[in-house]
Amino acid sequence: MKKAKINKKKVLLFLVFPLIIIVSAILLFFYFKSKELIVEYETEMKVSLGTEASILDGIQIKNGRIKTEDVELDTSKIGKQEVTFQVEDEFGNRKEYKREIIIVDTESPKIEFKEKIEVSYCAEVDLLKDVKATDNSNEEIKVEVEGDYDTCKTGEQELYYIARDSSGNETKEKFILIVKEKEVAPKPSVPNVMPDKTFTTSKGFKGETKNGMTYIDGYLIANKTYSLPSTYNPGGLTAETTDAATKMFAAAELEGLPHMWAQSGFRSYTTQSSLYNNYVARDGKAAADTYSARPGHSEHQTGLAFDVCATGYACITSGFNGTTPANWLSKNAYKYGFILRYPQGKTNETGYVYESWHFRYVGTELAEKLYNNGDWITMENYFGIDSVYSY
Ligand SMILES: [Zn+2]
Repeated sequence: MKKAKINKKKVLLFLVFPLIIIVSAILLFFYFKSKELIVEYETEMKVSLGTEASILDGIQIKNGRIKTEDVELDTSKIGKQEVTFQVEDEFGNRKEYKREIIIVDTESPKIEFKEKIEVSYCAEVDLLKDVKATDNSNEEIKVEVEGDYDTCKTGEQELYYIARDSSGNETKEKFILIVKEKEVAPKPSVPNVMPDKTFTTSKGFKGETKNGMTYIDGYLIANKTYSLPSTYNPGGLTAETTDAATKMFAAAELEGLPHMWAQSGFRSYTTQSSLYNNYVARDGKAAADTYSARPGHSEHQTGLAFDVCATGYACITSGFNGTTPANWLSKNAYKYGFILRYPQGKTNETGYVYESWHFRYVGTELAEKLYNNGDWITMENYFGIDSVYSY
């Protein structure tokens, strides 16, 4: 009996006690398991350039709390940053976690551009002239044109501007290149061949038009009113013009002036015609008329006029105005029979702007009168005629 009692106690001791330990261990296991720290987060966090974000964004914690101060991220530049944060569990144990923050640019550049670009037929065109691209990355964005185009093909051509940032974000914008119709080459201006007639000018001079040429008081006139026929061709500067010019230039050199010469002398009707029509094609008729004579209206066709150039000075441009050789010519040309044909401030009379280099041979008698002691009078004013295109 006694033996049995002992056995019962032993059974209790050997069976129940371990059971309690096992149960306790299981309970403890589940207890600690329920208190286990769980930290879930993206180890690589992508953040868009320029957006607001903090290092702790998107971290999920069970059974613990973050012990790191929340820090705002600098998202102004593309790149990687490594950050750490600490988490404390329910039992006061701290653990450090690493996280890589990647600042990425997901925004495409913006392109400022014209939707339609119009160009002349076969003209050169810079399609990137008025194009600007900007990006949130603040980097310089290059724009490229996609598509083939040909400005010698009239009509609309569909093209694209493409802008890419360094993160590979791309913007594509459509634009239209419009090539205008080929301008029909302007018809050469043909002056009316002036009918034969005699007349008296407003200043009482006798005028005569014969075979398309007009003489007033015996002087051949070529201006915007009075034309020369296309057939008129003296073949060069007249002998008296050349002789007088040679004398004038020699005299100038003797007085210590630079070497001067007639750079542009006789110009045939045909030459003037192609010259003028090229200007018209380039600048339009209205503009061309301000600086170039229509064929038949150029004084250079008379063989009596030339443009002077001087060594070391601007040649046949306003840069010659007021120079030493220009001033000398203005004061002395009359002595050799030349007139300053287009004086300053007389555009409304001559129809041309001031040309300090253009001289016309008229002989010393008339030249001295027009010189007028240095205050040049125009042929138009002196004779009482005008210089205006009638067509
Ligand atoms: Zn000239």
